[in-house]
Amino acid sequence: MATELNEKLRRVGVISDIHGNLHALEAVLRELEKEKVDRIICCGDVVGYGARPNECTNKMRDLDIPTIAGNHDHAALLLTDISNFNEIAKAAVLWTKKVLSEENIEYLRRLPLTLRDTANNVFYVHSSPKDPGEWNYILTMGEARTNFNYFNEQICFIGHSHQPFIIENDEGNLACPTKPEVEIRDGRRYLINVGSVGQPRDHNPKACFVICDFEEKRLEIRRCDYDLSGAQEAILDAGLPRELAERLAHGM
Ligand code: ZN
Repeated sequence: MATELNEKLRRVGVISDIHGNLHALEAVLRELEKEKVDRIICCGDVVGYGARPNECTNKMRDLDIPTIAGNHDHAALLLTDISNFNEIAKAAVLWTKKVLSEENIEYLRRLPLTLRDTANNVFYVHSSPKDPGEWNYILTMGEARTNFNYFNEQICFIGHSHQPFIIENDEGNLACPTKPEVEIRDGRRYLINVGSVGQPRDHNPKACFVICDFEEKRLEIRRCDYDLSGAQEAILDAGLPRELAERLAHGM
């Protein structure tokens, strides 16, 4: 199932992997409001791990944020096999499934696997353009190179690994700029992992997201502080595994 958007945008905020961390999501939404983006788009995994799956899903619905499905969204509906999830992830999936409201289950069930924005020449998918429903990770330049063949747009935004990156493709020459900000150049294509709002895994505990300015032709990976201890307390109060609270402090 694919969805299309066709509305010329000036500036978009791209978020992913919120994982029920409302404290982080609220901080990111405040940043995006300050940045005056005219759309926010979510690359999936709204739920799973964190203690506020309903509140995070409600935000996507109330703010009319186009959202695609992630593996944890499908896992919470038992639409995907969770036998390869570790014990902690499995416990979080089962807890999330138990607390999700009927309306939010229905909402998550209807999420598309990809989103194509024809007006701005952008493709959105949670895991990989090659196999959106297989939940494979793009971790090497070789995997990135293969995946450039599976979308036609200039820019593809993904999430899933919780590790942000920018890969620039200049007619087959791939580069990974070290700076978190790049100029979008005509003739080049981009594969961007927008990182994770609610459970970063790049040793940086700050919430991660992307701002892409189509007019100024710039895109930037951004970080912001949030009430991390509030999110940890919520996890412990919910009776979720303690490790899920602890890892937030380490960004892992
Ligand atoms: Zn995730």
